[in-house]
Amino acid sequence: MEKRNELYAGKAKSVYTTDDENFLVLAFRNDTSAFDGKKIEQLDRKGAVNNQFNAFIMQKLEAAGIPTHFERLLSPSESVVKRLQMFPIECVVRNISAGSICRRLGVEEGKDLNPPTYELFLKNDELGDPMINESVAHSFGWAEPEHMKTMHELTLKVNDVLKALFLEGNLLLVDYKLEFGLFDGKVVLGDEFTPDGCRLWDKDTREKLDKDRFRQGLGDVVEGYEEVGRRLGMTFEY
Ligand code: ADP
Ligand code: UDP
Repeated sequence: MEKRNELYAGKAKSVYTTDDENFLVLAFRNDTSAFDGKKIEQLDRKGAVNNQFNAFIMQKLEAAGIPTHFERLLSPSESVVKRLQMFPIECVVRNISAGSICRRLGVEEGKDLNPPTYELFLKNDELGDPMINESVAHSFGWAEPEHMKTMHELTLKVNDVLKALFLEGNLLLVDYKLEFGLFDGKVVLGDEFTPDGCRLWDKDTREKLDKDRFRQGLGDVVEGYEEVGRRLGMTFEY
């Protein structure tokens, strides 16, 4: 497969067309951003770590019956994926309170949420990704109700699969964000699942091993991601 033109450069990944219109190349860069792009830094090895982390997780999800865009690794920091028509929506599940829900509702970090929460946000950095719901997304034509129903079901199924997977590494899956798109009329998981878009805590010490290390200036950000990978049995190539 031949990588062709850059279609889009996001905050952490660049997207390229290929010689096949149904496939794209996702290039994971070292750029790391937080607070809707207001804090940006380059972190050595992060692109390669996230690309290989994402490949590992997407393959686990596919094996569990969740359709994903992942096709294959192209290089340490690039993957071939199906080209999806993305919904401009972020689907967030929380098993433990942290981040924006604490600020929004005035609740403390670390509270078990049972059942887990399911929230939708509009993907729009200028507006700070405002919270929406299915009615709003339907009215504005961002997604059809039947597609949102599938996104909801798949997002919760991902929770079952990944909570159990991370627990094997003595890790708590605190929360995560997913993005979906359509491929041949079917809802498919796109974008990425990496420690950039989820929260993972050591089960015993509650040490943060995800992007909160960057947001909160704790240091050893990529080392935290590598530690998660090591606990799941991943080995990284750089
Ligand atoms: P952002 O756009 O939030 O800054 P990224 O830097 O991660 O994010 O850029 C990647 C972009 O590629 C995102 O806009 C994402 O929605 C999009 N994308 C991810 N997977 C696919 C796919 N399979 N097909 C088309 N677009 C995708
Ligand atoms: N998240 C993300 N991209 C976003 C917003 C959130 O990947 O644009 C992830 C984030 O890393 C966390 C989860 O979604 O794992 C919930 O994020 P939250 O709403 O708490 O926002 P935050 O405080 O992290 O900005």
